[in-house]
Amino acid sequence: MQHLVCGISSGGRAVPDLDGRRFLVANAQGPYVWDDLGRRYVDTALGFGATFLGHTDPVVTDAIRKALEKGSMPAYAHALEEEAAASLASHTQDLTKVVFLNSGSEAVHLACRTARALTGRQKIVKMAAGYDGWFDDVAFGNAGSPEAKMAMNNRPSKGDTLLLRFNDRQDAELLFQECDDIAAIVLEPMMANAGCILADPGYLQFVSSLARRHGALVIMDEVLMGFRRHAGLASHLMGVNPDLATVGKAIGNGVAVAALLGTPELMSAFEDQRVNRAGTYNGNPVACAAVKAAMSVLDEVDYAALDKAGDQLRRQTVEAFARVGMDVCTSGYGTVFTIWRGKDAPSSYREAVQRADADFTAKLHVELRRNGVMSMYSTYGRHYLSSRHDEDALQLWADALELAAQSFVD
Ligand code: PLP
Repeated sequence: MQHLVCGISSGGRAVPDLDGRRFLVANAQGPYVWDDLGRRYVDTALGFGATFLGHTDPVVTDAIRKALEKGSMPAYAHALEEEAAASLASHTQDLTKVVFLNSGSEAVHLACRTARALTGRQKIVKMAAGYDGWFDDVAFGNAGSPEAKMAMNNRPSKGDTLLLRFNDRQDAELLFQECDDIAAIVLEPMMANAGCILADPGYLQFVSSLARRHGALVIMDEVLMGFRRHAGLASHLMGVNPDLATVGKAIGNGVAVAALLGTPELMSAFEDQRVNRAGTYNGNPVACAAVKAAMSVLDEVDYAALDKAGDQLRRQTVEAFARVGMDVCTSGYGTVFTIWRGKDAPSSYREAVQRADADFTAKLHVELRRNGVMSMYSTYGRHYLSSRHDEDALQLWADALELAAQSFVD
């Protein structure tokens, strides 16, 4: 690696060398990736959840190709922009106004800027051990960071950003008592990046109404969860109405695109220049073609069947480890879950931090990989299913889990 800093363009892509060889992906199709030696793996990292329709979905790929052939970067308005916005907005209830960006981090960044302009306040609250992108407002207190640990007993802050403990109602009440200039609270419908911690029943509603009572906006960060539980926002499915929402990943099935969504009332802040935004590549034809095509394919996905398949795999995981005398459990949903050691999945940020087991997850990655399954190499890593994980791919995955489990006692 002579020129590329750290040999990768994003930290999350680092996986260890195996038998002295670096893993280089050469091809990705449906539920599979191939390495540069031509070896095939079932993929469970799926572009960190981005390729929910599987790699190289034919409808999305065809739309991208056609857009590319007509010019990827014209610097003028083009018809696909509004068409993509309309198809996205038709899935997001009252959040009918759309700003396209290139990454989830940009979308969260713009959401924070919008909330500040709308409220005239500065402070942003995010979840300790949550991940909402790598931009400065929220790149603090992520899972595995010292601040995330400190948040067990304190309220770490950096600049105008404060940390809150997910699923801890008392902590939320205290925060709004202590602090009266909060512009917005940023949260995920499920704290995916801390190991798929589910929101307690009523927690999202509680924290949303608390924030609003104190004049703060609710930004639901659905970059990871949006369009993963149904063709729309997970928060809407859970009975929560955010003021602003960010989406990314699945909306372009792996093409670099994200969006900020809001109600016409709030998003009028862009029209009357209270909020500015720019971006050479925002809403480019290729990204918009991907969104429009992805929406049409997402409408056809049988989410219930997919969740069922994922739940079966989660059961198979537990059973495979039980057969070798190890307690293992999973947290999350059928198409996105984390595997933990122990009998019960963590139900709070605190437990997630206490239960993190880097050795277990590292070995699991290596053993799955030896047996033909690629997974995220992360302590809080997630396993994803795409709509293209068919019976064959799922069986290969289950077989690899069986062998991986055995390796823990060999
Ligand atoms: N928000 C959430 C919940 C995410 O999971 C991610 C990325 O994993 C981001 C924001 C940042 O998105 P991106 O990596 O596209 O900048």
